[in-house]
Amino acid sequence: MRPRSKKTLYRGVLYRSKIEAKWAVFYDILGIQHKYEPFWSDVDSKRGCIKYKPDFEIFIPRDNHTYYIEIKDSKPPEEAITKACGWAREYGDVVIFFDLRPPKPISQSGWLFEWNDISDQVLKQINIWWCECPKCGYLGIRQYGELPCKCYPDPESTGALDWDEVFGTDYSLSSTRTPRLLSAYKNAQNYEF
Ligand SMILES: [Zn+2]
Repeated sequence: MRPRSKKTLYRGVLYRSKIEAKWAVFYDILGIQHKYEPFWSDVDSKRGCIKYKPDFEIFIPRDNHTYYIEIKDSKPPEEAITKACGWAREYGDVVIFFDLRPPKPISQSGWLFEWNDISDQVLKQINIWWCECPKCGYLGIRQYGELPCKCYPDPESTGALDWDEVFGTDYSLSSTRTPRLLSAYKNAQNYEF
């Protein structure tokens, strides 16, 4: 067993690995509702039907949206992607996070798998990050750190070239590296169990 797979007890829950427990700390610091390993289900995979449960179920009240989170310690292998697609088809959005660190330019730390009714298939989005609006504090999971609120004017309505110009700086990094998020990443990484 790899050292990272060490079972870790945190607030009465036994996590299969320390990195999962650190993610639980991260959610607690930010006040994000989370449930560890919510339930088992059968999902389709290339090897036929397999039993699977994601690592976390989290709920974002302001989005009224549930995400299922899978934690990996590196970019997800094909099997994890197959399971995420099968789950997304049945139950809703799956995000595979593989880096509990603030994003850097062009870095990836999460992939989203979402069912699309129109195309009748699961779509994958990369560059999925936790982000926070610097004005209102709205926390969400978005691609490129796009803000989940309307605190900044849409570029089209102001004649600005893009979101960076509206924001006056690198838009995606400004929303994904706010003081609150940076502190949560740091404290979760350094948490002593
Ligand atoms: Zn806002």
